[in-house]
Amino acid sequence: MSSSDVLASPGGVDVSSSPKSPLAKTQHPDKDKPVTKQNPASPPLHGLKLAPHRELEQAQQRGRLKCSSCGGSRMFFCYTCCSLVGVSQQEIPSVKLPIKIDIIKHPSEVDGKSTAIHAKILAPDDVTIYTYPCIPEYEDDTDKVVLVFPGPGSVSVEEMAWRLQNLADMKSAASPDEEPSPKRPRAEEPPGATQQAEGQTSGATHTEERGGEAGIEGQTETPGACPLQRVVFIDSTWNQTTRIITDERLQALLRVELKTRKTCFWRHQKGSPDTYLATIEAVYYFLKDYQELCLRQEYTGQYDNLMYFYCYLHTLINKAKTTAGRR
Ligand SMILES: [Zn+2]
Repeated sequence: MSSSDVLASPGGVDVSSSPKSPLAKTQHPDKDKPVTKQNPASPPLHGLKLAPHRELEQAQQRGRLKCSSCGGSRMFFCYTCCSLVGVSQQEIPSVKLPIKIDIIKHPSEVDGKSTAIHAKILAPDDVTIYTYPCIPEYEDDTDKVVLVFPGPGSVSVEEMAWRLQNLADMKSAASPDEEPSPKRPRAEEPPGATQQAEGQTSGATHTEERGGEAGIEGQTETPGACPLQRVVFIDSTWNQTTRIITDERLQALLRVELKTRKTCFWRHQKGSPDTYLATIEAVYYFLKDYQELCLRQEYTGQYDNLMYFYCYLHTLINKAKTTAGRR
């Protein structure tokens, strides 16, 4: 089965181009803004530490299979049932994340076109997908939870850490009866002002399991000095995102913007800024920034495998495009 067959096939892992794309990339008001064309073969996807794609290559050669739960014709995984199809769990990397990820999906979003499922399959213990309007209440946790969403009121990941710490300090000052925070006191400089060495790393804050080595338990250590516990992402087209983002339950959350990354998404729509990322890209880049800017630990590829499916599909689609271009 060639890559162009995959590209042309209906259903399953939909890798065709689409007017819809997750995470607020489509129909953005900035329609006239020129989009920098990116060479698909160039970084940022290069150099990631990924588990071997052998299993996916074999599954692709076998072609689509029926999902044992819903009967849908699928390749690699079933986006309806959130389970692997024709791929062994042991051969798929499993990523342990330092914080929890909530992804809010619009009910009319086409599941097969979303990359949110990648996160759930690759980091099942730490990722939860909610279908709007069924979302958790975050009001009491505004010092521990943030929402990744671009906009005028959004702050950088670096500033997020700073603000959350201030919120936590204010909260503990306002209620002295509460149990004192077990966290170490934080240095008074803004983040990034000094390189604060994280000395006593008694255990890994995260473990990465590759190639089916299941069961490496990471010690649940309070990560660094950052109070962040949970990050909320929205998986939706621009119009639908507006409906979710105006939900009153999300208004109290600090909004964080990933400003410096560019998307490699094959569904990236002409005219929308290339800084609007596919959901899995946003999750990945957020965690990378979090590791470096909030935990102040070196990033050594711990979360690269979140891009396991994405990179495979990205390569596949570029091959198909190249082939199509030669005809
Ligand atoms: Zn299914």
